[in-house]
Amino acid sequence: MPILRKREIENLEQLSGEELEAFLDLLPAAQHTISELIDFVEDELYDAECNHSLQFSMRYMMENRLDFGKITSWLNNNGGYCDCKVLAEIAPIWRAKFGDD
Ligand SMILES: [Zn+2]
Repeated sequence: MPILRKREIENLEQLSGEELEAFLDLLPAAQHTISELIDFVEDELYDAECNHSLQFSMRYMMENRLDFGKITSWLNNNGGYCDCKVLAEIAPIWRAKFGDD
């Protein structure tokens, strides 16, 4: 049996104290940067279809000179394989925990 690794973000709701700090320390960018990335992707997808890539996430990373390798692998590991998946898989859990800031 392969070991199924749970997506890290699925545990986010339960984290607090030191565990939450550890989660935040392991993020590929600051918490508010990830929140802004999610908001940016949501705004872009309001007028455009997802083309099954991370094109808008990448644009945000480029414009903000972020580390694409690290952020892309974090998004992928959490189910964000393309922009619409970032919104479907990551945004609700993220916002439930951190609100809209
Ligand atoms: Zn998509």
